[in-house]
Amino acid sequence: GPITTDLRTLNEEIENFARAKKIEIDTLRIREEYRKEFLGNVSHELKTPLFTVQGYIHTLLDGALDDKKVRRKYLNRAAKGVERLIYIIKDLDLITKLEVGDLHLEWETFDIVELIQSVFDLLEMKAARKEISLVFDMEYTTPIYVRADKEKIQQVLTNLVVNSIKYGYPKGTTEVSVENLIKNKVIIRVTDNGEGIAEQHLTRLFERFYRVDKSGSRKEGGSGLGLAIVKHIIEAHNEKIYVESDVDVGSEFSFTLEKAKGSPGPD
Ligand code: ADP
Repeated sequence: GPITTDLRTLNEEIENFARAKKIEIDTLRIREEYRKEFLGNVSHELKTPLFTVQGYIHTLLDGALDDKKVRRKYLNRAAKGVERLIYIIKDLDLITKLEVGDLHLEWETFDIVELIQSVFDLLEMKAARKEISLVFDMEYTTPIYVRADKEKIQQVLTNLVVNSIKYGYPKGTTEVSVENLIKNKVIIRVTDNGEGIAEQHLTRLFERFYRVDKSGSRKEGGSGLGLAIVKHIIEAHNEKIYVESDVDVGSEFSFTLEKAKGSPGPD
């Protein structure tokens, strides 16, 4: 009769409700775990440079301040530590925005060749310190116009070239090239002949805080967020990022971009 039907419907409704709630709770639990892990990573990343700065300040206070020879050295190191903290916090800020999907792209048409050149100009000193040459491999010196968020792509190029310098061998080469891909796409490659990355790491490389060398003795400080930021930006553009690498041979990071209509580009 109608009463049993009603009861059945009611039961089903209750079950459905419970199922939905369970999913909701599961999602919340995953999100909570993710949040905890993120916070754990963040405090870990901040701790090292903070302790460094604290160490130098204490050394200065404990007497080094009176020693004309060393005080400048210690102050310089403390300043470096603070600089590093600022970089990490900037990256954290950016990754948070990217992850909550709060990223607004400013689409414009610009010359990617010129952008690569300006990234090289900014990083020339850094490369020179390791005697690494920055090379732009292009048959054509004509402009290649792409459509993308220029500032964000500058960030992508900067992160990739900085990594190639950080993980490149001294006296090595970082090469950037632009090539025509299918139809209206170009592919930009950043290649180094540095230490390379073992295969088992390649799939996880773009995760935030993921590092091949986890030891605290890493010479090269970074936030561990560089490649995660790169991946987010490229995916926000609906483009693709690739990595190929061989240990002791080098790495190649590449990403695609859309050519602006009517741009001749390279062949
Ligand atoms: P980090 O701040 O540690 O450089 P990234 O997200 O930029 O963080 O890179 C993650 C890890 O990927 C690095 O710690 C390094 O182990 C590896 N890696 C990135 N780029 C290169 C490269 N060009 N050559 C070798 N290893 C690289």
